Formats: sequence, C-alpha cells, structure tokens
Amino acid sequence: MQNIDAVVAGAGIWGCTVARRLAESGRRVLVVERREAIGGNVRCETDPETGIEIHLYGSHIFHTHIPEVWDFVNRFVKFNGYQHKVLARYKGKTYFLPLGLALVNKFFGTELSPGEVEAFMKDETHSAAVFDAFFRGYTSKQWGRPPEEIDPSIIKRVPVRSNYDVNYFNDYNQGIPLSGYNSLFERLLDHPSITVRTGVELRFEDGVFFAGGDSLGNVPVYYSGPLDVLFGYRFGHLPWRSLRFETEWLDMRDYQGTSVVNYTEAEVPYTRIHEFKHYHPENAAAMATAKTVIMREYPSDWRPGDEPYYPIDNESSRALLGRYREEAAKYTNLVVGGRLGGYKYYDMDRSIEAALALSL
Ligand code: UDP
Repeated sequence: MQNIDAVVAGAGIWGCTVARRLAESGRRVLVVERREAIGGNVRCETDPETGIEIHLYGSHIFHTHIPEVWDFVNRFVKFNGYQHKVLARYKGKTYFLPLGLALVNKFFGTELSPGEVEAFMKDETHSAAVFDAFFRGYTSKQWGRPPEEIDPSIIKRVPVRSNYDVNYFNDYNQGIPLSGYNSLFERLLDHPSITVRTGVELRFEDGVFFAGGDSLGNVPVYYSGPLDVLFGYRFGHLPWRSLRFETEWLDMRDYQGTSVVNYTEAEVPYTRIHEFKHYHPENAAAMATAKTVIMREYPSDWRPGDEPYYPIDNESSRALLGRYREEAAKYTNLVVGGRLGGYKYYDMDRSIEAALALSL
C-alpha cells in the first residue's frame, strides 16, 4: 500500500494509542475499524434530549495508578474527578460493595471496628454467608458457571478492606472525560499523519493482509481483533462471554441514586443496572432533567457472530490461544494487542499501558 507506513486494525483504546504513538514518531498511519464508529466498546452516545452520555457497551470508568498512563490520557482529555462506587442489592437491601466495614456491619447488624473485621471474617460461617449473598449468584450469572469453576483472580478484582472506604477501585486517579469518551478517541486520532477508515475490516488471505480491497504487503499491522477471526477460525473458536443490554428512558429525575447497582441474587436475570447521568455530576442540566436513562445488563453465552466481551480463561482456551499465537508469530509484520487481540481481561489503563510499552 502506497504512502502508508503502518496499519492499525481496530480503533479501540489499544489501537488508538498505538496509532497516536506511531504518528508522533513520524509514521503515516492508516486506521481501519470494522464498525462504523471508533472507540471500541468504550463508545458512547449522547442522548440528544437529555444530554446524558450513554455507554453503549456498559459502564466504563477510567481508573489507574500508572503515572505514564494517566499523563498520556490527560494530554487529550480532562477528567471530571468522578469516584466510582458500586452498590449491591441483595434481598431488598442495598449495600456498598467493596467487601469492607460498611457491607459487613450492615449485613450482620454489627458495629465492628477496623481491628475486628478480619478475625470476624475468618469465621467460616461469616465468610460463606457473605460469599453466598454477594458473589455466588452474581458470578454464576456473569460467567454461566459456579464460582468454583472460574479463575480466582476474577473475583479478586473486587476490593477487600477493613475500613469504610467504599470507593470501588484502589486507584487514586479516576474519572470520566469531561468532554465525553468519544472525544478521547477522536483526539487520539486527530493527527495529520493518521487516516481513519471505518466500516473496513482487516482480512488475511493466502498469507497476505488486506484492508478493504488493498493488499498491505509488508507494512506493519497492529491488530486488536480476536485472533481466531483473523485466521478464519482455522483451529476453532476462542470462547467468550457475551452481554446483552436493555436501555430504558424513564420519566423521573433519578432512578437509583447512583451509577451502578449490582443485583447479586441468582434469581434476578440481570447482573446490574447502570444509570448514566450519575457519571457526570458536573453536568447540571442533565442531572436536573426530569428524565433518566438506565440500562440493564444481561450476561449471555457467546456464539459465533455475537459480540465478544470477556475472554474465558481455562485450559482448553489457553491451548487454543497458544496455537493462534504461534500462527501470528509467523508474520513478523503483525503485532497483536488489546482485550480482544490479547484475549485478556484488561482494564482500559492496562490496554494503554501495553500500547505504550510496545517498541514501535
Ligand atoms: N463479582 C461478584 N459480585 C459483584 C461484583 C463482582 O460476584 O457484585 C465478581 C464477578 O465474578 C465478576 C468479578 O467479581 O465477574 C469482577 O467484578 P468487576 O466488577 O471487576 O467486573 P466488570 O465490571 O469488569 O464486569
């Protein structure tokens, strides 16, 4: 392909970061994106009537403790300082989710002090009661299998604390872009050396990469889609967990008083309800409007053709991934990354960290 030094396939957070770095180091970059819009699963849409920013693929909260990542994103957008809290609804009562003093004292009707909670939770009956109420049902819905069958690192994402800190993340840098998530992607790609083509897929045929109808020859290709898709599923399908969302516009100012409530009982078919206006407390007009937008999130089995969300990490998926990685390694001009390409449960900051760490 003429006049292009590199191709980035997939305009999510990893791809856009890579594209920006390539452009800033003097390369002419073509970004191709299969969807009609950039931003990957961080893509949002602002409701024209209320001004509420709707996260089309579920809530995304930017949080990081990695200074280089925070500095990098702050070159493009400023954050509103939103601090994420997750509430959990169980049997009609609402709790602050980090497994800490607020949850334990409310759940057991105790008044434990920070020094007492650890010993209290070492008691098997207490820990099992908390686990069954807040983790068993939610995890079974989320992953379609009991918690014993999923990697413990997944549940360990939820913080455990012996104090009243109800911040969901341990990261001290947090927030939502004041100008909206889409502006982050638009600004990352806003560079004279970057050309963006949406609705164009990277294809691989007979050992050659194509973007649209154009053969890419030996141009370096940075790909963030699933590896099995790129290689025509030749070794089989990598398994994913998928999600389905139901969005509802309600004639009320505030539905649940916070941005995310998890429904931890197995009997409730969805895992959580997002209420997007709470992500922008600084947007006084949207906060005050007599309408709100909520979204119910339903985990679902993934079938070929469905949107992939979460990689399923188990022995057979690791073996399959290994085969695809071996195949990918045969093409020295191919670099693979991002949550889909890396088949890794990355948070946004980890995706950027990985993109910043590449030697380009
Ligand atoms: N989890 C749970 N109950 C909750 C919240 C989380 O059991 O109320 C478990 C569940 O297995 C989930 C994992 O912890 O997949 C990680 O939760 P996190 O909130 O990080 O999930 P994400 O927002 O990435 O979907």
